[in-house]
Amino acid sequence: MAVRIGVLALQGAFREHVQALAGYDAEVCEIRTPSDLEGLRGIVLPGGESTVMGKLLLEEGLLHPLAQLCASGIPVLATCAGMILLARNLPGFSEQPRLGLMDIAVLRNAFGRQKESFATRLHVREFSRQANDLIEAVFIRAPVVASCGPEVNVLASLQGNPVAVRQDNLLALSFHPELSCDTRFHGWLVRRAQEHKAAMHSV
Ligand code: GLN
Repeated sequence: MAVRIGVLALQGAFREHVQALAGYDAEVCEIRTPSDLEGLRGIVLPGGESTVMGKLLLEEGLLHPLAQLCASGIPVLATCAGMILLARNLPGFSEQPRLGLMDIAVLRNAFGRQKESFATRLHVREFSRQANDLIEAVFIRAPVVASCGPEVNVLASLQGNPVAVRQDNLLALSFHPELSCDTRFHGWLVRRAQEHKAAMHSV
């Protein structure tokens, strides 16, 4: 059962996510206008520049319908700038337009500038198959989670700060899984979208 997955395509690394989803039983659509949201069962919020994405979300009239859809229980995979868009609390940037759905406080650019980008390997709870199964994680001007509410599960931390968190259907990563060849987070999105669709149809 192919489910329709939407990748926010206003700016940033959306093409890499479209490619990462190609191996799965999903019909992948790029989201640019509110009508692109129709029939979506899962969402990807890519990395890029969150200030630009927030501004374009407002200009395109996407901010509120997208927030509503993400809050409706469909799975969302948010990476890097995507994590910033989901943050309820953004110290120092509280005016920045965003979806604000996750009970996390996020610090932007926590590891420094573009030239301080790095890759590392992380154990990510719920995704690493065993203790020594480490996932390649690419950090580019990445945010970290400074604090999170009780409904948020921390799946991985780096230098003492959470860099992978899940709050029910919302999975937010500081790093870029679409830039490594490991697509297990995309697999989670598609599987969860299929389960959510099946559950909707059985009521
Ligand atoms: N630093 C960027 C921002 O604040 C995010 C970087 C990224 O998505 N790679 O939006």
